[in-house]
Amino acid sequence: MIRNFLKEKKWGFLSLSILSLVVLILLVFLLWYLISPRLTSTSPLLSLVAKIILFLFLITVSGGLFLIVLSSAWEKDFLFPHGEKQITLKLLFPINLLLGKIFGLSKDQIRKSFIEVNNSLFKATRKRINKDRLLILLPQCLQNYDCLYRVITNLNNCQRCGKCKIGEILKWGERYDASIAIATGGTLARKVIVDQKPTVIVAVACERDLSSGIQDVYPIPVYGILNQRPCGPCVNTQVDLEELKEVVGFVLDGSLPSPKAGLKGGKDCRRI
Ligand code: SF4
Repeated sequence: MIRNFLKEKKWGFLSLSILSLVVLILLVFLLWYLISPRLTSTSPLLSLVAKIILFLFLITVSGGLFLIVLSSAWEKDFLFPHGEKQITLKLLFPINLLLGKIFGLSKDQIRKSFIEVNNSLFKATRKRINKDRLLILLPQCLQNYDCLYRVITNLNNCQRCGKCKIGEILKWGERYDASIAIATGGTLARKVIVDQKPTVIVAVACERDLSSGIQDVYPIPVYGILNQRPCGPCVNTQVDLEELKEVVGFVLDGSLPSPKAGLKGGKDCRRI
């Protein structure tokens, strides 16, 4: 039952985060129990400073998580403009992975739930997102495996032949004031971000790349859309175009996305 609950979309990650916080608090108390006698005998002042630092640290993480849970659950902005979200999530994420393993959850299940939480926080904070430079970041595996054109170096090389979604996305994207880029992995994605300096990103990728990318590019807000992998990982992957259009529409004009499940278009895995 607990396992099923932890698999619930964003509540999986949020529940694990609350558990992780309890573990963290216990660890800090244990640490304090072990070091405080020696610290107090060496220097009472140092002991007091250490106590204040630990207290502030726990208050920041606990308060940050409280605001994240509130904002994510109601999709209303209770977060402070900077810092607490990043500190809290960065700190609790690895503990969540460990606890998830104990409850029999895979890393990808936890990452997927984290992406749900991230997207709900994106919606919650939409009013303060700067929409000046929107970047739509796509993974290279979206390109048809048999395609001979190097669209990574230049998107204009795409012949829009209809064998993969890239042509369709380019055609549709021309109507928007947005940049579109394709990246082979995290390093290239980071380079694109440094070059283009987007103020907001809509990214399509797998659980691993999205969850690490969202954390890496902070404070740039990222809405993550999971790719679909009918042919297995990294080959002829797909994206729900309707979901992508809805999310971009939401970023640009504020209408809430209601992603539809399901794959549009056929599956072509001939070369695998
Ligand atoms: S639409 Fe056609 S030309 Fe463009 S990337 Fe896909 S397969 Fe290649």
